[in-house]
Amino acid sequence: MVSFALSDEERLVQQTAHEFAKKEIRPVAQYFDEHEETPYDLIKKAAAVGFGVTAEGGILDGSSSLVPSIVAEELSWGCAGIALAINSSGLAAAAIAATASEDQRERWLPEIASDGDSVKLGAMCLSEPDAGSDVANIQTTATRDGDDYIINGEKQFITNGNIADVHVVFATEDRTKGWAGLSAFVVPRGTPGLEEGTTWKKMGIRASHTANVVFNECRIPAEYKLGGQSKSGGSAGPGAMGALMTLERTRPVVGAYALGIGRAAYEYALDYAKQRVQFGRPIIKNQAIGFMLADMAMAVDSARMMVWRAAWMAGANVPYLQAEGSMAKCFASDMAMKVTVDAVQVLGGQGYMREHPVEKWVRDAKIFQIFEGTNQIQRLVISRALEALPPRG
Ligand SMILES: Cc1cc2nc3c(=O)[nH]c(=O)nc-3n(C[C@H](O)[C@H](O)[C@H](O)COP(=O)(O)OP(=O)(O)OC[C@H]3O[C@@H](n4cnc5c(N)ncnc54)[C@H](O)[C@@H]3O)c2cc1C
Repeated sequence: MVSFALSDEERLVQQTAHEFAKKEIRPVAQYFDEHEETPYDLIKKAAAVGFGVTAEGGILDGSSSLVPSIVAEELSWGCAGIALAINSSGLAAAAIAATASEDQRERWLPEIASDGDSVKLGAMCLSEPDAGSDVANIQTTATRDGDDYIINGEKQFITNGNIADVHVVFATEDRTKGWAGLSAFVVPRGTPGLEEGTTWKKMGIRASHTANVVFNECRIPAEYKLGGQSKSGGSAGPGAMGALMTLERTRPVVGAYALGIGRAAYEYALDYAKQRVQFGRPIIKNQAIGFMLADMAMAVDSARMMVWRAAWMAGANVPYLQAEGSMAKCFASDMAMKVTVDAVQVLGGQGYMREHPVEKWVRDAKIFQIFEGTNQIQRLVISRALEALPPRG
């Protein structure tokens, strides 16, 4: 049976996240956009409620598989940059959870978990100047030296780069092995050889910190390799590839952030179109504007259905035979881009002004077509999955 009704628990989480977004995030969204700062106090406040990677496990732990997407949509409705900052340790946590041994999980997950009093951050360091879409081309090396590894290389555009307490770093131990040569390591803040690279100034999501991270003869104990070492020298756990496969299951949440921005823009444009009068009547009475809003409403709802379906599949361990995780991310971010641009059009000249949040939402939406795999790469993944489907009967 298909049901679109949320459970009591899901509805409660949705309301809590919405209230948090409305009272705590929206009022300061413009400030953080203009000042490009990390919202440490808000990360603490959010952790106290249970949002983000938290010391207690948080509201997202053990809940329904829809909950992370529901929370992402609501917080991002408030401000995508702040929402990303609140959950910025999520990717590092997912990588640790996917690759680490039990002991490593116990040791490192608390190191990137915030609470009401303190902020602890994780960063997931995968991309490089010459390895963006082409992740397998990672040049950062990890070389075994006695009981240590020495890491050398540069990571590019890393969320929380340099401000993180723990960096999860993907490096190659053997370039001739491609994917199989990749391993993941933890590098704690303050490790000699962990050096600060460029901190980037961005078009949007400015409350989320982005920087390059340089590893210069960076020496770490061998036990910081996630998953440990097998007898044959490879990774004992699922390895780096295992972590990357797991991240495919987190794609619906990326779509949910984009969904939150699109919804915010649609709602704002709808309210405006009802009260703005030209030619003696509200502009929504013009079919050109009314139909635009109808298309926006349909697009937002369609994106939510794709996000929820993919989130449900991930939770129920239903395989993504058509790359449904990629579909959700790609569709929702394309939707957010179009809906935010259309919202500017509905507001006319006002939409172009920074007095309204709509121009910011356009800038925020753009990143969701780029990071966590560009939408071209998502289409590549989807088309390959479709190609592999068996013939229909
Ligand atoms: C704000 C921000 C935060 C980020 N956070 C992180 C992070 O925390 N950790 C991390 O590891 N990375 C992070 N990234 C990196 C992000 O994942 C990459 O930017 C992204 O994967 C694209 O890589 P690229 O920028 O090198 O673009 P490129 O790979 O150079 O792509 C350029 C263009 O070519 C297209 N293209 C490339 N190859 C193909 C192909 N085969 N077929 C069709 N089109 C293709 C792309 O779609 C794109 O349009 C972040 C990036 C940004 C901007």
